[in-house]
Amino acid sequence: MIAVERNGQLSSDLLAEAVAWRRDLHQHPEIAFKEHRTSDFVARQLTQFGLQVHRGLGGTGVVGTLRRGTSRRTIGIRADMDALPIEEQSGARHASSARGIMHACGHDGHVAMALAAARACAGLSDLDGTVHFIFQPAEEGAGGATRMIAEGLFRTFPCDEIYALHNWPALPLGTCVARDGAMMAAIAEFDIEISGRGCHAAMPHQGSDALLAACHLVSSLQSIVSRSVDPLQSSVVSATQIHGGQAFNVIPARCAINGTTRWFDDAVGDRIETRMRALADAIAGGFDCETRISYDRRFPATINASAPAGLVRSVAASAAVNLSVLDVPPSMGGEDFAVMLKAVPGCYLWLGTGRSDSDYGLHSPRFDFNDDALPLGVALWVALVRASVSRA
Ligand SMILES: [Zn+2]
Ligand SMILES: [Zn+2]
Repeated sequence: MIAVERNGQLSSDLLAEAVAWRRDLHQHPEIAFKEHRTSDFVARQLTQFGLQVHRGLGGTGVVGTLRRGTSRRTIGIRADMDALPIEEQSGARHASSARGIMHACGHDGHVAMALAAARACAGLSDLDGTVHFIFQPAEEGAGGATRMIAEGLFRTFPCDEIYALHNWPALPLGTCVARDGAMMAAIAEFDIEISGRGCHAAMPHQGSDALLAACHLVSSLQSIVSRSVDPLQSSVVSATQIHGGQAFNVIPARCAINGTTRWFDDAVGDRIETRMRALADAIAGGFDCETRISYDRRFPATINASAPAGLVRSVAASAAVNLSVLDVPPSMGGEDFAVMLKAVPGCYLWLGTGRSDSDYGLHSPRFDFNDDALPLGVALWVALVRASVSRA
């Protein structure tokens, strides 16, 4: 099969095959660190394309290396492979065959685009340098990128620059965003356990009410963003769970609050944690209760370096790719590619995949990756490789 036509266009055979891969992956989703079938599939394809294949980083991670010419210049392209614990309701013919698991974030599309790009790049004659196609497990909060790095990703496969994209249904098809600086926020998860003394609900003065303290604390946490963080800095504090009590006539001895915080600037992240600990201690203390806090900083902010981001924008706007490059604000969502960008300069971009009709957002049980975006993503990766690792 010819992957790239003489005129530089991607062949229709390759693009049809990429759609078939994508739908097969969609039908067989696997969650964090259990992407065994996906990993086998990726490794088999990369081997067929003639790439050197390395397996096992992060458990199911796969790296396909394409080396041409004599230049030491090296870039990495990362695609995430995991699905989500969601029961699919898309009604698609290629809907998930695994109960309670689905590709609701479009990582099936990311894998198919990176594979097709590897296939196309393997057929190019003008490359001079190295491309590592990095297939990563467990992007959805479980820390697959962190684990691949800890197990030696960039020691074994050093990269001058690293790139990743995410399909973005909120933006129209044919557009993309690659900002200088922040794209996605830093994420922490917090758990606050409040301990008091349980007692009969009719004699509340005989105990100390952990539930009442928790209610006051949830309200007070909203003062962090509104009163302790510079209004010109973006941040979020969201309490999302509160658990306590088991009977209508018992004042509970314990109550737990769980939630998430988001920020871009590290000093803001520090401020949020400091204020949360101070409020929890003071408010629980005021109600004669004690607190135990676990504050887990999951990922830093996803920050693009300006030269790689500029390269992505110029490649995206070039005739070979023909995307409209938009300038929209960053998202308060998070992304574990952030840890790769802490290790190696690079760019994370959003590829617009929005349809005018039936559009469902990422993580919706009705979501299905928009296959019309596949040729755009593949063309973008191929053009980026050509622009970064070629004799020209
Ligand atoms: Zn997701
Ligand atoms: Zn995702």
